[in-house]
Amino acid sequence: MYTLDLTGKTGLIFGVANKRSLAAGIADHLDRAGARLAFAYQGERFRDAVSSLADNMADPLLVECDVTRDEDLERAFDTVKREFGHLDYLVHSVAFAPREELEGEYRETSRDGFRIALEVSAYSLIPMARLAAPLMEGRKGSIVALSYLGAERAIPSYNVMGTAKAALEHAVKQLSLGLGKLDIRVNAISAGPVNTLSARGVSGFTNILKVYEERAPLGRNITQDEVGSAALFLLSGMASGITGTVLHVDAGFHITAI
Ligand code: NAP
Repeated sequence: MYTLDLTGKTGLIFGVANKRSLAAGIADHLDRAGARLAFAYQGERFRDAVSSLADNMADPLLVECDVTRDEDLERAFDTVKREFGHLDYLVHSVAFAPREELEGEYRETSRDGFRIALEVSAYSLIPMARLAAPLMEGRKGSIVALSYLGAERAIPSYNVMGTAKAALEHAVKQLSLGLGKLDIRVNAISAGPVNTLSARGVSGFTNILKVYEERAPLGRNITQDEVGSAALFLLSGMASGITGTVLHVDAGFHITAI
């Protein structure tokens, strides 16, 4: 039997809010493959959810980190360096826009809403990659960020988050160019809709699920587990020749036209 053994590997995961989070599905796959994991959570009120998820995992590390704060990011990576000594995998599964930005007309996007969405959902990947690089050097490190089709297409209500995802996907390409010299890969997964806390903040989300089910070549929606296994592939050496790419895990929806 061919199995993936990540014993001795370490990963830092941003974006577990609860057990439904896409990041939780990725963590589950990395954990089952034997990697040791650190979880960065936004604030004290989210610690319990993250800690209950990590409870069954081998020696997990929990670090508080609001990705809009440089000092939090530095402390998170310092903690990983102190406790793990190195880093093999980084998962960026973080996004936020004020609720009012995810409904109505895009032309009503506020300056602040634009800044917040872009800063949390796209810019944050850049300092994360910068801080991860020295910990990954010589280890063939791998970084995966979570994106959505709204980066490429105009989708009702997705609004400024689409702009943020476009910036995120470009950051993946631009980062992969520089980090490739250190043998570090950077990729994104463009996931189909999955019912999570953030997804429910997008106006009309239930209808989006329905449209995917009707139009996707596979005739269904994807699962959290399918995002997890695709991320495991991209993070692991099985994808050693792949960087700067966006892998659609969306039951094929992105290829449809009418
Ligand atoms: P989720 O469970 O709500 O996860 C979103 C995460 O972002 C939460 O853990 C949230 O932390 C975190 N976050 C927001 N602001 C933050 C900040 N300032 N500092 C640190 N963390 C912050 O939803 P999800 O659907 O799994 O989303 C994960 C990623 O997948 C996002 O990038 C999302 O855009 C992407 N994605 C989702 C779907 C989907 O349909 N679900 C589809 C394609 C792509 P708190 O809860 O602590 O605020």
